[in-house]
Amino acid sequence: MTVRTRIAPSPTGMLHLGTARTALFSWAFARHHGGQFILRIEDTDLERSTEEAVQVILDSMDWLALDYDEGPVRQTSRLPRYREVIERMLAAGQAYRCYASREELERLREAQMARGEKPRYDGRWRPENAAGKTPPAGVTPVVRFRNPDAGEVAWNDLVKGPISIANSELDDLVIARGAALVPTYNFAVVVDDIDMRITHVLRGDDHVNNTPRQINIYRALGARLPAFGHLPMILGPDGQKLSKRHGAVSVLQYDADGILPEALFNYLARLGWSHGDDEKFSRAQLVEWFDLDHVNRAPAQFNPDKLLWLNGEYIRQADDGRLANLVAPRIEARGGVLAGPELPAVISLLKERARTLNELAEAALLFYGPHAVDEALLKQHLAGPAVAALQAFAERAAAIDWNRQALSVLVKEIVAQAGLKMPQVAIPLRVAVTGRTQTPSIDAVLELIGRDTVLQRLGVALEKVGTAA
Ligand code: GLU
Repeated sequence: MTVRTRIAPSPTGMLHLGTARTALFSWAFARHHGGQFILRIEDTDLERSTEEAVQVILDSMDWLALDYDEGPVRQTSRLPRYREVIERMLAAGQAYRCYASREELERLREAQMARGEKPRYDGRWRPENAAGKTPPAGVTPVVRFRNPDAGEVAWNDLVKGPISIANSELDDLVIARGAALVPTYNFAVVVDDIDMRITHVLRGDDHVNNTPRQINIYRALGARLPAFGHLPMILGPDGQKLSKRHGAVSVLQYDADGILPEALFNYLARLGWSHGDDEKFSRAQLVEWFDLDHVNRAPAQFNPDKLLWLNGEYIRQADDGRLANLVAPRIEARGGVLAGPELPAVISLLKERARTLNELAEAALLFYGPHAVDEALLKQHLAGPAVAALQAFAERAAAIDWNRQALSVLVKEIVAQAGLKMPQVAIPLRVAVTGRTQTPSIDAVLELIGRDTVLQRLGVALEKVGTAA
């Protein structure tokens, strides 16, 4: 048997982190077993589905590099197929038309609640109950599945273990609506999973109540059951269901926030699944290790700090040229102009401390942002013996080899000769050349800014404090 898994998002907005994690587990499971992974777009909710949301799904899958072997298959392209199955079920008495109006069903519900019963459809249009009834004029019927009355539905959930429910708990589900027989989720999902020969259905545990209903439809259609695995949900750091309140929940928002795709990928893989104590691993390792035995039964808790830590790790290991391409537009969006030092060289220096691409872009404004030195800051730091030390530095800097090592030696010599401590020279130098009191290592920063600019800025700064004195 070839393992075939799928992800079946509905295009009604963003791709939620929970869906992305389900996609990732389904992908990893298929890849681990040398099987196939399929993308299906569940767009039969015609009112809520949009083309933009379809694109967001495709872009999110792309960004996370969750490659699929088939699809995207759209359910709206399969409407004739669902209709054909529904007609067959109607003819076989496995489904029937129900003419109960909304108001009627509402009254039924209220009466049941008033009697302290669980609200459920009472089967009033089941063929055996509808005999002799004339369908009311002007009502477009829905199609209901005739759920078995007796027995139970049981399956061994790949994550949750054995689950069973009595058929007496289930009522007759609406499987299609309107004259066009547009299928509902629980019906279309079964026809698709059968037709696509899905062997393992992995999905969020918000669907666990749908599964027995779906299993009954599989049985009615005489189809073999796939294995089902329901993944526990993702909680926010406060233990509540992960939502917008906790920050980003959309995959592409993480891109905008400066997270690398491989970092989110790795983070999601660890969210509810584990391989010993391993926190950082590659896609190839995940494919090699992934199994359902190590999917946690308890909900996973989203930890933004851990994601940032992991992202920092991936930033440090990423190629500088690639990072430069990702960071360049973020620098420009912050008003920076990409003239001056080579961006990959700047990235190489800054990436040691950055946790996101946006932090990298912020930090890079040191080199590409407008140069402005606060007059008061200048006067505060360029005072006393620092002035002479900076003058000496400027004179000798004109003649050295312009590289990090030579600059480091020169700064140390100036410090020693002036009988000062390192910060007493390094900070005024930073302020004069960059306008900031804190930067990465001063020799590296000066090297990147370049001799001409450094000497020019030093000259202007010294002149300013000179005139003021
Ligand atoms: N469209 C459903 C969802 O996004 C699919 C659930 C399933 O995988 O069966 O929740």
